[in-house]
Amino acid sequence: SHVMVCGGTGCVSCGSEEIIEALNIELQKAHYDQEISVVRTGCFGFCGQGPIVKIHPDNVFYVKVSKEDASEIVQEHIVKGRVVSRLLFVDPEDHQKLDKHDQMAFYKKQYRIALRNCGLINPDDINEYIAFRGYEALARVLMDLSPLEVAGIIKEAGLRGRGGGGFPTGLKWELTLKSPGDEKYMICNADEGDPGAFMDRSILEGDPHSVIEAMTIGGYATGANTGIVYIRAEYPLAIKRLQSAIEQAREMGFLGKDIFSSGFDFDIQVKLGAGAFVCGEETALIHSVEGARGEPTKKPPFPSESGYLGKPTTVNNVETFANVPSIILNGAEWFKGIGTETSKGTKVFALAGNVNNVGLVEVPMGTTLREIIFDIGGGIVDNKGFKAVQTGGPSGGVITQADLDTPIDYESLKGIGSMMGSGGMIVMDDATCMVNIAKFYLEFTQDESCGKCTPCRVGTKRMFEILEKITKGKGTEDDLIHLEELAAMIKDAALCGLGQTAPNPVLSTLHYFRNEYEDHVLHKH
Ligand code: SF4
Repeated sequence: SHVMVCGGTGCVSCGSEEIIEALNIELQKAHYDQEISVVRTGCFGFCGQGPIVKIHPDNVFYVKVSKEDASEIVQEHIVKGRVVSRLLFVDPEDHQKLDKHDQMAFYKKQYRIALRNCGLINPDDINEYIAFRGYEALARVLMDLSPLEVAGIIKEAGLRGRGGGGFPTGLKWELTLKSPGDEKYMICNADEGDPGAFMDRSILEGDPHSVIEAMTIGGYATGANTGIVYIRAEYPLAIKRLQSAIEQAREMGFLGKDIFSSGFDFDIQVKLGAGAFVCGEETALIHSVEGARGEPTKKPPFPSESGYLGKPTTVNNVETFANVPSIILNGAEWFKGIGTETSKGTKVFALAGNVNNVGLVEVPMGTTLREIIFDIGGGIVDNKGFKAVQTGGPSGGVITQADLDTPIDYESLKGIGSMMGSGGMIVMDDATCMVNIAKFYLEFTQDESCGKCTPCRVGTKRMFEILEKITKGKGTEDDLIHLEELAAMIKDAALCGLGQTAPNPVLSTLHYFRNEYEDHVLHKH
């Protein structure tokens, strides 16, 4: 048996490294250090309750642990076999203490594909990944399937881009495969920039091999021999784990020349980004990898024809990749069986804001917002009322009570005026000022605008100024009209997705909460 301690950024920042150290000392003192090991895992997802410690195989889940608790955990739980009740999670609804991991409402409705190994294995040990069928999908692909067949399985499965675009992944792979050229590239977009979103970071910290394996499979399917992970420099732990995983994969022969004696060569480089939100856009990302300014360019040409260094290139997001090995192992039919008509599989959301259970959740597409916020998320903090939830980050919009029962997928979220985005989900209680929310997002996009085109560079600035005026009680009714006119113009004329979607939070809050704007304007507050 072993003691698992979350080694994700959230728990590390709350002292999980010190807990690991203290547990090791206490186990040694109790002479249990030969029998029981302390394992540093990736993120369990229940970030608001960290640091998390789980005792395996007892399946007992301790929350908000500190290094001072190490001796009690060892003496009581390990030595005497008694659960340390004060470290158990208390259900906010019925105030029951829950000791088993899978009993907790936070986990019951989750279905983990992309996060399958996060919180389960030690990401720094390739053997643990292998023990959970790691690199088996790659072996199967290289031994038994042609590149076109691999792209075909992913296409058939219905996997779509989890970075927010929702483009069919298999089709992207097929397009690159069919583009003429001997030199092709497979890029992993790990430039996660949505405020509040951290699923890509958690996957790379908790299960980097799943991404390495998937990139190699994708390289084979598209005819690329070089993979590049473009990751933001603000993710030092993810970078470290990824680099160490790449080295271990090379040593084991899963990367490099003639993988599995198949004649296929593939290796991965890591490039650091400077955390510019616009670099999540694939053309800007490619320019940044090339060493140029991270500014978007018009499509076509699409990267699948002319991308990195002008060569056919595929860009997929971290979460998209993390689904690939499971699809190969379990088949397209299995994946297609999860989700809705148009959106298959699961989606990871970063649940944040005024919700009780803050953290990362992975649910089948088609789960309703109500289930995510109230069942998994445990409802609104302090039993306040629910007002709205923002999905799609700064490009999305707010969703209100009336749409809480909408089954979530790419199309349905668009239908109710928001979007899937990369999976940030910010819950707001009934005391939230929606004009302030719109201003917050606009300030973000305005800050992140690369400045290449005027509608976005100047337009978002003007919109922000108007919002500031309104929230200071100096707005007029004309300002509301100007806001709407500017929004429509920017949506229409901006060059890339960042600008085209920047007005969305304003438009959607104006649509659902116009009364709050009017209230500021009329009552001058
Ligand atoms: Fe840059 Fe904004 Fe124009 Fe995109 S829309 S190219 S971010 S200025």
